Amino acid sequence: MDIDELAALVRTIPDFPKPGILFRDITTLLADAQGLSALVSGLAAIARPLDADIVVGIEARGFVLGAALAHALGLGFVPIRKPGKLPGKTVGIDYVLEYGTDRLELHEGQIGQGTRVLLVDDLIATGGTALAAAQLLREQGATLLLALFAIDLPDLGGRAALEADGVATAALLE
Ligand code: IMP
Repeated sequence: MDIDELAALVRTIPDFPKPGILFRDITTLLADAQGLSALVSGLAAIARPLDADIVVGIEARGFVLGAALAHALGLGFVPIRKPGKLPGKTVGIDYVLEYGTDRLELHEGQIGQGTRVLLVDDLIATGGTALAAAQLLREQGATLLLALFAIDLPDLGGRAALEADGVATAALLE
């Protein structure tokens, strides 16, 4: 399956979650056996040479792709979650959204000094979520090798913002 066929499996839903937003829905891609396989293989081909220690995925669709990618690479998986979801002791970061603030959390001790991390999410838009996750990982002493996304929305400048912050990025689809 080539990149155009893969991209064609992503569904675009207008006015979700708010009027004026074009939501890129990957559930249609995930539901397609060949599409899911091609997506995970494509991400793994980018990630394999980096020799990461662990894959970290951002809630919630980053869990689906991150766990599949970790399995493909023979690595473990660690979740970054919204507040109050992880049962153990956590470390977290508060970050600013367009309206208000949000928070991401990680189980304390799962990422340590020098851990070579591959960060994964389904999509990067403004980059706010991934920037916060990158900052949280750095605060734990992680070496962030790459922030990897299935989809980049380049007009929103997220990858540029991450790169400006010193985070290497890659995406399979635009
Ligand atoms: P950002 O923080 O603006 O880069 O938004 C990225 C986060 O919001 C990721 O966790 C995405 O899963 C989610 N997101 C934003 N827009 C979309 C979309 O169109 N489709 C799917 N997820 C989206």
